[in-house]
Amino acid sequence: MSVVFVTGGAGYIGSHMCKLLARAGHQPVALDNLSTGRAEAVRFGPLEQLDLTDADALRAAFARHRPEVVLHFAAFSQVGEAMVEPGKYWRNNVLGALTLIEAMLEADCKRMVFSSTCAVYGEHDGVTLDEDTAQAPLNAYGASKRAIEDMLRDFGASHDLRAVVFRYFNVAGADPETEIGEAHDPETHLIPVMLQAVAGMRHELMIHGTDYDTPDGTCIRDYVHVMDLVRAHLLGLEWLAAGRESRVFNLGTGQGFSVGEVIERAAAVTGAPVPVRFGPRRAGDATRLVSGSRRADAELGWRPEATLEDMIRDAWAWHKRLHGNSAPDKID
Ligand code: UDP
Repeated sequence: MSVVFVTGGAGYIGSHMCKLLARAGHQPVALDNLSTGRAEAVRFGPLEQLDLTDADALRAAFARHRPEVVLHFAAFSQVGEAMVEPGKYWRNNVLGALTLIEAMLEADCKRMVFSSTCAVYGEHDGVTLDEDTAQAPLNAYGASKRAIEDMLRDFGASHDLRAVVFRYFNVAGADPETEIGEAHDPETHLIPVMLQAVAGMRHELMIHGTDYDTPDGTCIRDYVHVMDLVRAHLLGLEWLAAGRESRVFNLGTGQGFSVGEVIERAAAVTGAPVPVRFGPRRAGDATRLVSGSRRADAELGWRPEATLEDMIRDAWAWHKRLHGNSAPDKID
């Protein structure tokens, strides 16, 4: 058993990670300032409530728990918000990561698994993306993640910090046991927003743009189940524990679905139509983000198993657990 720091451990992906770590016999310690995370999602180990830009608090946490490795999930991650408040993304994401890395090195902790994103690639129309595709982020979210990747490379060269960098495609779904799930407030991600519309919590789902150069005019994304995604992180931990070098891996299924196709699947899974409204493009959105890499399979042995239907079904079960079956007052 090893002590593992999970920054953002009270958040959507971080809480699923903690559950899997605990099940695999590790001791997860969640580091979270609870700005977007929820204390009730921290169920699988202790919570250190701190801000990653607070070097003293980090130093104390490292001294208290002596982690072997850090899984760094904590970040702001909304494309729409990043377009209007870029400073929030540069300050929180980049400064937080820098302070964290310096605290790690001070504590002689030299292994990290870092949550990056396919948003580092930007617009590459019609091209499937692999780890060597040129990076050209369209928004401060992707740009802040790219900056952290650069930071990890630099500290790798100077201080032997080793990192597995995972570029996530669109993470969806929930713990099939419905113990935890996605619960952003406000919610902006496609599948949970869609389910809120199905449940009557919203008047409708606004489709952000129908004039993209895709078969149905809506954006195409590669959706990966959160449980498949966190499973890759266990393999990342093994990679680092085996003394292997820093490496970047895409985490996607390689299959793209348009917003229109996701809506169709959601209607089939829930048995109810999704009320929709057609809106303008959302600034910062790329047309098509689909992983074209088999590196995670070839080198880590990672094969995502869940289908888009599985993701919607598990997210729907979690939605009902969180909100009940009733349709409360509308939130839009
Ligand atoms: N989307 C949409 N309506 C919404 C939320 C998202 O049409 O209310 C679209 C969005 O423009 C993108 C896709 O759904 O094409 C996935 O967006 P999401 O915010 O879930 O993830 P992102 O790709 O930004 O990480």
